Amino acid sequence: TLVPMNLSDQIRDIPDFPKPGIVFKDISPLLANREALTEAIRVMAEPYRANPPEAVLAVEARGFLFAVPLALELGCGVVLVRKPGKLPAATRSVEYALEYGNDMLEMHADALTPGQKVLIVDDVLATGGTVAACADLARNAGAEVTAAAFLIELTFLNGRDKLGDLPVTAALTY
Ligand code: 5GP
Repeated sequence: TLVPMNLSDQIRDIPDFPKPGIVFKDISPLLANREALTEAIRVMAEPYRANPPEAVLAVEARGFLFAVPLALELGCGVVLVRKPGKLPAATRSVEYALEYGNDMLEMHADALTPGQKVLIVDDVLATGGTVAACADLARNAGAEVTAAAFLIELTFLNGRDKLGDLPVTAALTY
């Protein structure tokens, strides 16, 4: 387009979702807008064009939406990280802490090869727990996690603190 697109216009705040006091960033308007979606993928891919990953690790569920176009843009395939019980073949799993209790994520045991360079993709970096768990999964498989790419980073939640020196990029920051 001739007019630069302001991606943040396509994200709306939903107060008290999923719990009172939380302001949820709803990406539905961006997903529904072809130009915004195209621009979002372009901006997300930009930092990785020079040195593309060998696989994109896609985080259920909204991460899937960005992982596939991003992988095609960067010339690699997609590996799924899913909630327990969804993947059909043998899996490896990792447990991670939530605000209350624990949660688990799974990946097919044979999905990554040792030394494979992997980019983790999700829609939002919040507290960082999800991405940290995905990085553990990939490293347990012997893969090398090179970076994590997001549409949105909520910087006030300090998610990067859970990720060590892992490079993080985001198309939008709040
Ligand atoms: P974290 O583990 O970093 O705290 O949470 C990140 C996960 O929760 C991501 O998979 C993301 O989809 C979801 N998430 C947390 N907050 C938001 C939000 O405000 N908007 C959206 N779209 N997803 C969120």
